[in-house]
Amino acid sequence: MTCLFCEIIDRNIPADIVFEDDEILAFRDVDPRAPVHILIIPKKHISGLSEANESDRELMGRICIAASRIAGQEGIDQSGYRLVVNSGPDAGQAVDHLHFHLLGGRPLGWPPG
Ligand code: AMP
Repeated sequence: MTCLFCEIIDRNIPADIVFEDDEILAFRDVDPRAPVHILIIPKKHISGLSEANESDRELMGRICIAASRIAGQEGIDQSGYRLVVNSGPDAGQAVDHLHFHLLGGRPLGWPPG
């Protein structure tokens, strides 16, 4: 089965890419919920956070560091931002490729949902 985000990684589907390295891709969400809404994904296909395992530890850390770097690039590191993973149906996970939402550029309500 084809994966939407794997297709973006392979450049078969266009995306507004803001960051890339050998293991990570970040692109703007097509339906932004905040002035800055970026999805940060591992290039390795992992279906969701529950499918990440011990061997992904370094990759998970690199994604968090990339998020902080992208927040700086986007100018929201001082105003603040949120990094969110939706996992499973109750959280509304719609795409089965692990992705971190980086949201900012406005005050974000708490608790979410
Ligand atoms: P989630 O609900 O956590 O699975 O988030 C999936 C996100 O992917 C949603 O915020 C969608 O707007 C976003 N999305 C879906 N298709 C695309 C696409 N082709 N390019 C960018 N973002 C997308």
